[in-house]
Amino acid sequence: MKKAAFVYSEKYLSYKFNSEHPFNQQRIQLTLDLLNKHGAISPSDIVPSRQASDEELELVHDPGYVNAVRQAGRGTLPGNKAESYGLGTEDTPIFPNMHESSAELVGGTLTAADYVMTGKAEHALNLGGGLHHGFRGKASGFCVYNDSSVAIKYIQEKYGARVLYIDTDAHHGDGVQWTFYDDPDVCTLSLHETGRYLFPGTGGINERGQGKGYGFTFNVPLDAFTEDDSWLYAYRKSFREVCAYFRPDVILTQNGADAHYYDPLTHLSATMKIYREIPKLAHELAHEYCNGRWIAVGGGGYDIWRVVPRAWALIWLEMTDNPRSTGPLPAAWLEAWKSRATMPLPEYWDDPEGIYKPIPRKPDIEEKNALTLEKALYPIQSSKNTACGQKQN
Ligand SMILES: [Zn+2]
Repeated sequence: MKKAAFVYSEKYLSYKFNSEHPFNQQRIQLTLDLLNKHGAISPSDIVPSRQASDEELELVHDPGYVNAVRQAGRGTLPGNKAESYGLGTEDTPIFPNMHESSAELVGGTLTAADYVMTGKAEHALNLGGGLHHGFRGKASGFCVYNDSSVAIKYIQEKYGARVLYIDTDAHHGDGVQWTFYDDPDVCTLSLHETGRYLFPGTGGINERGQGKGYGFTFNVPLDAFTEDDSWLYAYRKSFREVCAYFRPDVILTQNGADAHYYDPLTHLSATMKIYREIPKLAHELAHEYCNGRWIAVGGGGYDIWRVVPRAWALIWLEMTDNPRSTGPLPAAWLEAWKSRATMPLPEYWDDPEGIYKPIPRKPDIEEKNALTLEKALYPIQSSKNTACGQKQN
């Protein structure tokens, strides 16, 4: 058994809206090159992705939508129809072969799922995935097909496993949440910047699931300008408690890297410190609860030079128990990319102290986040009380 599989294909780079669009898959190439130049990955670790079939996409997506995406990518979808499917918007423009490119990212997450669920690898990473805003019949927020939603349904049907999905992208993991909102065998936990000023606006603590699925959706909306310690407190406490409560068979982590202070689209104030800790705890809990079964996907992340390559490389280093994750970045990587980078590249794995000016409202933000967390985890606390009550009777 492999310790970890890195699912990748150059086809991922063809998921490209246009040259001005902030969603840029070159970040995967930058990450892989960083790992290569760090001597942390070998060709035998890399597993090729595949294109998901229509039948697989339709585990979650409407057939009419899949057809519309295919037509859009061939330039034959009428404008009014495109609009009703969320295609051709400023966020999610139409591009050539968008069906094939989008289905490839989904197939990558399915490949990662198969590797982990059949025991070919303990862990698997598909940085092309994590498109958490994709809906059943609509594209949204840079996402066409929702690879995590499709993979979770696929895992349920093929392996009968209960999945915990945890999403640490700065944006709410709405697409995955709504797909499994009434399903008690899938638990979703999303930590994100409050939707007050940020897309998609949902992800409040009171979105807790419905019907049989009530109590299996968790949201921790954090205040704008949240810093490392407060973010990590919420992450560690919610992830541990939800794991103990749900006891998953497999953990799927969405690793959007847009909560960093440098990210141009969001307003959180995290540093590389959280990107070191995120995979560490996922790894630990996967071994504690799931016999190691951990699938990780990418997601957002719009500072592709200073943030994403380091953050995503750290997931792989954690998966492979590689302790060489501090100190300077490989000189060959810096040399290879510095002339192409639109800003100075970081020289170390960690951020230096003080990359931003102190946040004046820090204590208020911490207090507010702690209260939000308590309310968000309330169903767990109340289920514990009920369980105690039943024991006494
Ligand atoms: Zn995001």
